[in-house]
Amino acid sequence: MAVLLLVFPSLPRLHGLLQRCWGRLECSLSPGFSGGRSPPWGPALAVQAPAFLPEPVSDARESNEAPGLLDSILWMAAPKKRRSIEVNRCRRRNPNKLIPVKRNIDVCPECGNLKQKHVLCGYCYAKVKAETQLIRMEIRKKEGGPFNTPTVETVVLYDGEKPTEEDKSKRIIERARKRPSWFVQN
Ligand code: ZN
Repeated sequence: MAVLLLVFPSLPRLHGLLQRCWGRLECSLSPGFSGGRSPPWGPALAVQAPAFLPEPVSDARESNEAPGLLDSILWMAAPKKRRSIEVNRCRRRNPNKLIPVKRNIDVCPECGNLKQKHVLCGYCYAKVKAETQLIRMEIRKKEGGPFNTPTVETVVLYDGEKPTEEDKSKRIIERARKRPSWFVQN
């Protein structure tokens, strides 16, 4: 800001000085240059950019001919020799490429289907999902609509089961079937 304040008042003086210097330079260099008078001063813009010019289309022969078939092909790497079937099979059946044999397969103690040792049995889980769905339907029937859930615990009672003393204060959902063996026992 200080520089601007200094420069602004002295701008006309600087302009005059530069003009005088330019005129003197012209006179000393060539008397005939621009008729002895200095050109009018004006703003100028200098742009530095790479000399990027569009290449002139000079090949007239190519433009007359139709484009060749090989011109539009993108050449990629291609095998030079055929690999024999033995080599291919050795590569494909390499032990590193084969699916590893699973040794953690076990029999489900509930249903007898095969399952992984550390994973839930899919067949048994489907049963649990179906029973949960039925219990949810019972709950929906009892509530009669959304946002009617009471703020008490829920107990599921199966056939031939009586609510105990502590279950009296809870919400009771009754299911008309025998308690499954996998369901949590009362
Ligand atoms: Zn199972």
